[in-house]
Amino acid sequence: SHHLDIRQLTKLTFALFLVVPRSVPGMGLDEDSLEYHRTDPPGKIEISTTKPTNTQRDLSLAYSPGVAAPCLEIDEDEADAYTYTAKGNLVGVVSNGSAVLGLGDIGAQASKPVMEGKGVLFKRFADIDVFDIELDEADPEKIVEAVTMMEPTFGGVNLEDIKAPECFTVEERLREELDIPVFHDDQHGTAIISGAALLNAADVAGKDLGDLEVTFSGAGASAIATARFYVSLGIQKENITMCDSSGIITEKRANAGDINEYKQQFARDIPGGSLADAMAGADVFVGLSAGGIVSQEMVASMADNPIIFAMANPDPEIGYKEAKAARDDDVIMATGRSDYPNQVNNVLGFPFIFRGALDVRATEINEEMKVACAEALADLARQDVPDAVVKAYGDEPLQYGPNYIIPKPVDPRVLFRVAPSIAEAAMESGAARTEIDLEAYEEELEA
Ligand code: NAP
Ligand code: MG
Repeated sequence: SHHLDIRQLTKLTFALFLVVPRSVPGMGLDEDSLEYHRTDPPGKIEISTTKPTNTQRDLSLAYSPGVAAPCLEIDEDEADAYTYTAKGNLVGVVSNGSAVLGLGDIGAQASKPVMEGKGVLFKRFADIDVFDIELDEADPEKIVEAVTMMEPTFGGVNLEDIKAPECFTVEERLREELDIPVFHDDQHGTAIISGAALLNAADVAGKDLGDLEVTFSGAGASAIATARFYVSLGIQKENITMCDSSGIITEKRANAGDINEYKQQFARDIPGGSLADAMAGADVFVGLSAGGIVSQEMVASMADNPIIFAMANPDPEIGYKEAKAARDDDVIMATGRSDYPNQVNNVLGFPFIFRGALDVRATEINEEMKVACAEALADLARQDVPDAVVKAYGDEPLQYGPNYIIPKPVDPRVLFRVAPSIAEAAMESGAARTEIDLEAYEEELEA
């Protein structure tokens, strides 16, 4: 049932994941999208039943009086909810619409098409069902309260498009409160996928992670989580320099109290300066900020074989061609865009992370599971790419190296490599409620 048709995926990748400005003249994307959504039935998702509902008898099993039997089983042992209900394949995509992909704080109601769209991706890539939950609430504590009340419904919660710094509090508190996975994709998705790219970029550049000087542009939801995750992967925290819109985050600024506690964790005891100052001599640039703010001079000032992840969407901090042209072709580059090599696309992560987590009835998505995901993705990029995937990308050669450090989103192998890695890490780290046979599991996913 998890079988993915490569031709359909090809269409999907170009239709859904081509990150280009919405307003490109002549593309007609806006009008096409309005029609897509408006065509009867409105929206793009619906609920369907999975058991026979034809006879009176069927209905008395599905509902009263027969339904009492599974209720009583669950009343005796809550874990039976995974056996008798859809809980174990159901994820709540929860947002308050305060930081909606490139649109900003458009509110809960206006965010619904995005959350329904996230549901489409979960279903399409990992056969996971989603209830999208839009909460008209800005107060993090109240969001925590609402989601906590909904815990019985879901096997996991994907927080989505909640603005920083509130998103940090909401996720931290929910991870404490709930016994199901809680995962803020805008934070960790980017961290994990770009982390996989970093593992391979360092390998291609012939550098050790522990030696890398890393400069961040951006200190918001995705940048803070990414910097933390890179430390889990082996980057030295003292080798990270983080900049926000006011420049380098220093201890002086932290002591002056003008920055939030999350930025403060990355404050460095160095004189202040600009992003340009922070990039001079750096091995890695991680852009999670705004388009066009990095110049060719800044790229030229970096160390040999610089790694540049310019991930602002839709316009990266510096364009692929400009960055390449700024140096003697030693740049290893990734962006958020599908029209250049190495697209950092969250869809490489969340469907498969949740698939693996749900299939062992995980209580959380912990650091071990995130690292396992990055390693599985990095490992997959080092292997030969099936012809079908190469064809889906217009026959450009896909071979491990500077222009191919992460798998392509449509590569069907991602499902059956990443999900078992997550399940394995969950079992090894004590997050799994059930043990599964990993070999059988991988075969089942491949079938
Ligand atoms: P966010 O929480 O709003 O954080 C944005 C950060 O960028 C803030 O720290 C902000 O500084 C800084 N910033 C904004 N404009 C700047 C400028 N002109 N110069 C320097 N710094 C600037 O946003 P986010 O969710 O982390 O996302 C940040 C960017 O990354 C967006 O473009 C988003 O599309 C992109 N992104 C891409 C991917 C991907 O490719 N897979 C995933 C996630 C995010 P202050 O703190 O001083 O305001
Ligand atoms: Mg998002």
